[in-house]
Amino acid sequence: MNPITERDIRAAFVNCTKGEARRLYVPRDLAERPWDDLDYLGWRDPRAPDRAYLVAELDGGPRALALRSPAPTPGETRRAMCSLCVTTHTGGVRLMVAAKAGKAGKQGDSVGIHVCGDLACSLYVRGKKDAGPGARSYETITLAEKIQRTTANLAAFFTKVTS
Ligand SMILES: [Zn+2]
Repeated sequence: MNPITERDIRAAFVNCTKGEARRLYVPRDLAERPWDDLDYLGWRDPRAPDRAYLVAELDGGPRALALRSPAPTPGETRRAMCSLCVTTHTGGVRLMVAAKAGKAGKQGDSVGIHVCGDLACSLYVRGKKDAGPGARSYETITLAEKIQRTTANLAAFFTKVTS
């Protein structure tokens, strides 16, 4: 994806208020992120570990999500597969919950997804980060197809949040 500035990230949130988007934690090292290898940028708030965020380029512009990551339940230490990038981890996949956009979200409606807890899907897909033995099942599709699949899965999740 193309590099994105803090200002553009804050303006891209679809499921929180403008005030929240202004105050939430955005990484300070945006210039050093490996943008060429990212399908989305995901990060956690170091001061509030249950808060996670991600930004992606969808529909021709940046779109960002605020997520809650509840403390792992005992079942989450088992092997599980990320719904975005299809990497299998032991204990590394976390449930992330997004408040729905608009009125539904204000009424408490949310949607959840199981994803790589470190939000590093892009690096797992490209083999730049290792999730341990058996992390990837053998697939005959190309890297470009895997990237496309991750992006399509992410776009589908955004649609769930905003519909
Ligand atoms: Zn993943």
